[in-house]
Amino acid sequence: MDKRLRWFDEGAPKLRHVLELLGVADELPDEDFYACPCCLVAYPRAAVEVGLLTIEDVPPKSVGGRPLLLTCKSCNNTAGSDFDSHAATRADSDAFMRGQVTGRELSATVYIDGIPLRGVAQRTESGVQIFGVPKKNDPKVEAAHFEALNAYADSGDDQPNFSFTVHTRFDEVRARVSWIRAAYLAAFAALGWGYILREVMDPFRDQLKQPDVNILQTYFLRSPGASPDERRIILVERPRELRCVAVVLGEHTIFLPGLFEPLPYDELVEALARRRQSGDRLSIQLDGKAVPWPTRATYFMD
Ligand SMILES: [Zn+2]
Repeated sequence: MDKRLRWFDEGAPKLRHVLELLGVADELPDEDFYACPCCLVAYPRAAVEVGLLTIEDVPPKSVGGRPLLLTCKSCNNTAGSDFDSHAATRADSDAFMRGQVTGRELSATVYIDGIPLRGVAQRTESGVQIFGVPKKNDPKVEAAHFEALNAYADSGDDQPNFSFTVHTRFDEVRARVSWIRAAYLAAFAALGWGYILREVMDPFRDQLKQPDVNILQTYFLRSPGASPDERRIILVERPRELRCVAVVLGEHTIFLPGLFEPLPYDELVEALARRRQSGDRLSIQLDGKAVPWPTRATYFMD
């Protein structure tokens, strides 16, 4: 069976069960339905066949994610353009600056004697390679660039007047929201509907609807240098004032409301801020239980 239908069939009865526990059994339709975990719009099974429910990669595929769950086509597409492209550019830019070989190209301009050649730059084992892209260049300027380059080659001057600039454009807040969104979806896949269908999770969905309002910035820490493949979900129990669900995605740690007695949004933000040192590190060890990283939605707590 299509993986999407299977995932629909696994999620729908769990959602019905949780909604019944929430006391809205009378209002539910007879047919099966699955809600997009981001916008909470409910869809019937036929929505899978017409492509309204889509497989989403968590984190986004462009930063090394894998297929994990169903979200609606609208949320999936919007996230790709509004958030995930910024996270991917940021990750590529960071990797380039650190000298990591990723196989990805960044837009770049190389100068000889101040004469530009526009193209792309890539890290390789032997250093930085820059290629001109003809359609980005005025042919006259391009010719002048290569003339200057050849003049250096002919003269044997080993210190040419050479420089390059790598162009990366991303919005820091939107890149961050991409990681927060991925953490929210991973926590949903692991913990289930009961976890996300609480008022305390509303700010997360609000943030996805309002990409230009910085609602969730202090829920986020970075540990540069951590393995990009690291994936962990920790139910943080101690210290008690920081009880939360911590989701580690590579160098990003995102703090989501806890499973039991969740701290209101503002209180968790304040508690984290108090424990925050210079930079993005916490001054305290977090202890709790690890939850296995989900490979599909398992609805562990439903
Ligand atoms: Zn949606």
